[in-house]
Amino acid sequence: MKDEQNLSTVYEPQKVEEKWYQIWEKEGYFKARAEEESSHFSIVMPPPNVTGSLHLGHALDSTLQDILTRWHRMQGEDTLWLPGTDHAGIATQARVEEHLAKEGLSKEALGREKFLERVWAWKKQYGGHITTQLRKLGTSCDWSRERFTLDEGCSEAVKEVFVRLYEKGLIYQGNYIINWCPKCQTTISDIEVEHEPHAGMIWHIRYPVVDSDEEVIVATTRPETMLGDTAVAVHPADERYRMLVGKQLRLPLTDRVIPIIADDYVDKEFGTGAVKVTPAHDPNDFAIGLRHNLEQIAVLDRHAVLNEHAGKYAGLDRYEARRQVVADLEKLGFLVKVEEHENAIGQCYRCDTVIEPMVSKQWFVKMKPLAEPAIQAVKDGEIRFVPERFTKVYLGWMENIRDWCISRQLWWGHRIPVWYCQDCGKVICVKEEPQVCPECGSGSLVRDPDVLDTWFSSALWPFSTMGWPQETETLKCYYPTSVLVTGRDIIFFWVARMIFSGLEFMPDVPFQDVFIHGLVLDAQGRKMSKSLGNGIDPIEVIEQYGADTLRFMLITGNTPGNDLRFQMERLEAMRNFTNKIWNASRFALMNLTDYQEVNCGTNAGGSATGNTAVEGTEYTLADRWIRSRYNHTASEVTRSLIRYELGEAGRLIYEFIWNELCDWYIEMVKSRLYGKESEASRKTAQKVLAQTLRETMQLLHPFMPFLTEEIWQHLPHQGETVMLAPWPQGAEAELDEQAEADMTVLMDVIKAIRNLRSEINVPLGKKAHVVLIARNDEVIAALQKGEGYLRDLAGLAEIEMLLNSQEKPEQAVAAVVSGVEVYLLLQGLVDLEKEKARLEKEKGVFEQEITRLEKKLSNKGFLTKAPQEIVAKEEDKLKDYQTKKTAILERITSLGC
Ligand SMILES: [Zn+2]
Ligand SMILES: [Zn+2]
Repeated sequence: MKDEQNLSTVYEPQKVEEKWYQIWEKEGYFKARAEEESSHFSIVMPPPNVTGSLHLGHALDSTLQDILTRWHRMQGEDTLWLPGTDHAGIATQARVEEHLAKEGLSKEALGREKFLERVWAWKKQYGGHITTQLRKLGTSCDWSRERFTLDEGCSEAVKEVFVRLYEKGLIYQGNYIINWCPKCQTTISDIEVEHEPHAGMIWHIRYPVVDSDEEVIVATTRPETMLGDTAVAVHPADERYRMLVGKQLRLPLTDRVIPIIADDYVDKEFGTGAVKVTPAHDPNDFAIGLRHNLEQIAVLDRHAVLNEHAGKYAGLDRYEARRQVVADLEKLGFLVKVEEHENAIGQCYRCDTVIEPMVSKQWFVKMKPLAEPAIQAVKDGEIRFVPERFTKVYLGWMENIRDWCISRQLWWGHRIPVWYCQDCGKVICVKEEPQVCPECGSGSLVRDPDVLDTWFSSALWPFSTMGWPQETETLKCYYPTSVLVTGRDIIFFWVARMIFSGLEFMPDVPFQDVFIHGLVLDAQGRKMSKSLGNGIDPIEVIEQYGADTLRFMLITGNTPGNDLRFQMERLEAMRNFTNKIWNASRFALMNLTDYQEVNCGTNAGGSATGNTAVEGTEYTLADRWIRSRYNHTASEVTRSLIRYELGEAGRLIYEFIWNELCDWYIEMVKSRLYGKESEASRKTAQKVLAQTLRETMQLLHPFMPFLTEEIWQHLPHQGETVMLAPWPQGAEAELDEQAEADMTVLMDVIKAIRNLRSEINVPLGKKAHVVLIARNDEVIAALQKGEGYLRDLAGLAEIEMLLNSQEKPEQAVAAVVSGVEVYLLLQGLVDLEKEKARLEKEKGVFEQEITRLEKKLSNKGFLTKAPQEIVAKEEDKLKDYQTKKTAILERITSLGC
């Protein structure tokens, strides 16, 4: 026996995981082959932020992708899982700025070029962090093809796309109301604004009508913006204001007059039915302003400080200005009342600062023409969402899509490829920096200072990472990708944008299936967040429990698309599972030291060595049963994986390993392995055990890559790694319904006898005598085939089998299962007199309780006064005691003394 054949006494995931990952990566097992004639499977990894750390969401996302990738690779497909990271404009820039601040520096002080050098240096130092963490999880991506959204190739693709869309008229510059984060100092898109309910105030303000005693009262949650009001709007059908429409109002605190206008947008029922209109600081007012050609007066600057248009309030922060405006309104008698009011305030998703809607010149992508084919592709089934319900979410958004504001006032990112001629004003959009203006020949050109929204480059990820705009071998082999795996929270940010980009430029869908998973919540079902402090670091979990345990925990107990709660108990349970597998494998290997297998593991179906026993013996019932169960499980697991029911697939394997292979087969095969039967029988047992365990490791491999590799390598096998071993489909030839039916009878009877033993406190070691009365011939045949197992596993010295006997044994405890009446004879097992005395005493206790409850429940006072549920509870208790008493009486009768 070779030393390395031994598994260590205790499973140490840390050692095993690190060892195998290094070997796999070094041997190039993760690499895609890029063979045009092969069948292909490809996934692009949703690129995590380059500055980020792995969180449980990534861990779930990556585990799902890894399972699919490993499963397809084992099927012999040419498989590519393409990894990479995102430059994450705001997030990364903010991180580096924080660092600079600690050195007493700012990006303005450094200047654009120097600042970008610092960000690249930061990326070089910390950018590998998250990919190192992904390796710890066991992800089998092709690291040789790792990409970064700001690398040369991706940048090339971004420029190409921008210029093409610009030339097509689908990118334009316009004044628009955008969401501005005064802290991050950039525009953020609508979907990056988070709306949280806030307890705030609503102020009712009096606007006097010019040359009249009349007035209009408006309500606002942001009184400081009144300084930028350019109208008050009412509903056209609102009788209260009909006579006032067209008149002028005097805007308090200013010397301006503004008109009263009528617009359908106004809700007559809300507040006074009159609303102030501030086109420069509210998206709805902006739209009203466009309809009525109103002036846009911006009163806030980019730091949310009031500007010169705010008169005496200029220079005040928005909240200080609010206090002063309200104080002045009150002093001058314009304030009618203040009420408490809950409203949803938009906050920056990055820094939680309250966003400020502002009008500014930005770049936009015209969405309607791009959205149409992207809607059609999903409607036509070219792209399929799993679970199906997300189709509706996607279509709903795409059908109501607004133009996409793509410019960001940042330095870190893809700089917009547009230059402005300082002499003739020409706008030049080209990929490479122009030397002179093509219009007037001037050399005085200034580049647009903005960069593109991070999602602009990630929208191109499925093809930019494969070499587009060149026509590459990689694109030919792997585009469209097979499936996109991602969280439901980024369907709009990312999935939708990849779809229209792919259709526009490839032109083909970027993926066939979109597999959406939920979020990982804490044990109480709350989102994990820094402020709640309920986050769990997956790396700490891996260090403590191992990656396999974490992976298995994340994917089981989880159905597609639904959120998942992270529970420590489930993690513990999964660790017990890995230990169970380890211990079973250790046992097997200790009994396989003299076993040599020929021609193992060459057939995906599983019956590599054929369904034949060693000469001179046959497969036993247990052998046939475990082979049948294994192959059943393999085909069901395959079916579940095809349907993206990865959690169900994991559960099936778990049940098979725990409840069938470990708890039954290994127990049943022990006496043969110990040589208590013929040598041929021992060899056959070794063969079935080795084969089944090896193939089970193959089946489990995509889910628990490390543990399975370690065990597989110790078992007789062919090939270098379980990663490339054939995927078990389930061999029909080995399915054996008869063996499964027979074993069901035997297992039920054995379990029943064990239960009876524990009821009367008799340990398994004390040999017993049973009488089994079978309902029919088939059942009795099953019992006869399994007599040996009954003896071994139920601790029996004597078994009597009767067919349909009317005579029942006396002095026995009984149970009925699977068409068998089971009688465990008490003679010799227990002291009948003592047992009877014990039961009589127990009966007495129940009788007392029954009398007490019956009395209570016939008491009218109790029945009328006590709450319904208390009465019901007492009634249930009484029923329970009565049932127990009956059972004891039966037992006393069965003692027959
Ligand atoms: Zn912010
Ligand atoms: Zn020019």
